[in-house]
Amino acid sequence: MKIIMLGAPGAGKGTQAKMIAEKYGVPHISTGDIFRANIKNGTELGAKAKEYMDKGLLVPDELVVDLVIDRFKEPDCKNGYVLDGFPRTIPQAEALDKALSAIGETIDYAINVEVPDENIVKRMSGRRACVGCGATYHIVYNPTKEDGKCDTCGAELILRDDDKPETVLNRLKVYHEQTQPLINYYEAKGVMKEVDGTVDMKDVFAAIVEILGE
Ligand code: ADP
Ligand code: ADP
Ligand code: ZN
Repeated sequence: MKIIMLGAPGAGKGTQAKMIAEKYGVPHISTGDIFRANIKNGTELGAKAKEYMDKGLLVPDELVVDLVIDRFKEPDCKNGYVLDGFPRTIPQAEALDKALSAIGETIDYAINVEVPDENIVKRMSGRRACVGCGATYHIVYNPTKEDGKCDTCGAELILRDDDKPETVLNRLKVYHEQTQPLINYYEAKGVMKEVDGTVDMKDVFAAIVEILGE
């Protein structure tokens, strides 16, 4: 099962992708997580990506595409994957199609998690990310058991630099200009599905399970 998660920054793509990965036994591939791991490890790719991420801009396509396509070759992707944060531009989607069609495969579902812009800024300022394992929480909607400490690995939680309101507004603008056109792109391929992302996380997931099947 090959799935793409679409939606604005903070719509809940990562939250839902993790649940999909667990239920359907496919890896969760997040390009944002890959970049953040590279930044943490001080790699050259991380340094390049950080320049764009801190401004709320997209990392250039040429730094993203090969990275994801190489990731598909890992053995854990043999039964599919859930892509979170990729593709984010039409050229990325075209590169993905080309790589898949070369091996006779296609995407099964693109799931758009719909959340209006008004809800996004509030959601992002409450998001907390674990520096250890990348788990994501929310101070109101998904709090940790112990304040400021990851439930899974015990590491410290932070507010991502790019989740500050000024950067979030930029990311939303970039989303509308560069990523939203993917909805029509996948609609034309007949794989586009929409879910309401404003309801409780469990209910969003239930709607996704309706689409993917038990
Ligand atoms: P969110 O899920 O909140 O939108 P991500 O963790 O997916 O955030 O991405 C964080 C940042 O990483 C983006 O704002 C962008 O700078 C960069 N990024 C992630 N994926 C891509 C991609 N496919 N293409 C270009 N930039 C990306
Ligand atoms: P994305 O990957 O699309 O950027 P996340 O999954 O990281 O989004 O979610 C953004 C923030 O909103 C996180 O703090 C998360 O805990 C919270 N969140 C996710 N889904 C919901 C929901 N359905 N209702 C309320 N808050 C949510
Ligand atoms: Zn953790």
